[in-house]
Amino acid sequence: MAKGHSLFIADLHLSEQRPDITAAFLLFLQHKAIEADALYILGDLFEVWIGDDNPSPLVAQVAKAIQTLSAQSVPVYFCHGNRDFLLGQGFAKRSGMILLEPLTVVDLYGTPTLVMHGDSLCTLDIGYQKFRAWWDQKWWQKLILSLPLWYRQHLARKARRVSAMDKKGKTSDIMDVTPDEVPKVMAERQVQHLIHGHTHRPAVHPLQLTDGSAAQRYVLGDWYSQSSYLDVSASAWQLHFQALPQN
Ligand code: MN
Repeated sequence: MAKGHSLFIADLHLSEQRPDITAAFLLFLQHKAIEADALYILGDLFEVWIGDDNPSPLVAQVAKAIQTLSAQSVPVYFCHGNRDFLLGQGFAKRSGMILLEPLTVVDLYGTPTLVMHGDSLCTLDIGYQKFRAWWDQKWWQKLILSLPLWYRQHLARKARRVSAMDKKGKTSDIMDVTPDEVPKVMAERQVQHLIHGHTHRPAVHPLQLTDGSAAQRYVLGDWYSQSSYLDVSASAWQLHFQALPQN
């Protein structure tokens, strides 16, 4: 039976280092998502993804929680972020998640809406776009995933040390979207509604498309300091924020 609304989240960056975010996510699945028609996770669910064969208890716990939700007739859709782009069909099957293409148009109660992680909109971040083009290559991903698990764990620890040394704030180091890119992509997909994450700058941006029509861009928030989700129904689109549980 349709419940009349769907939920969107992104950029939880789940990791062993932040059990408070995991706790907030599990509560969100049990109390909020269960009441929805569908849950869309628009990338960076995990801080890092080293392969579906990772035996980490955190991964197992999250897979089980999502599976519990999807088994209760709430479909869970996932599109990859730049942190968890190696997440594959193995984890999708285990958790019951449905993997989406990087850019997907979904029908939200009669409104065709483009959903994506959002990193592809940040075209001025040349360094990142080069990194992305390299890592988008299937042969390279296959090569990385064929490395022994212990070595991939070592690489992830090394990457974490590097990012820990560079503690200049989690938001400022992510570039915002390129303004011209948004109407271009929306026109290509023939939509007037866009939902994305990645920039950690939650907001609703009205804009005008080149044909003069009014459009809306909804940016989801990250979960570093609060949980954040977008609730979409036929009558209202609303960004919500909630404090993380206290340890
Ligand atoms: Mn991201």
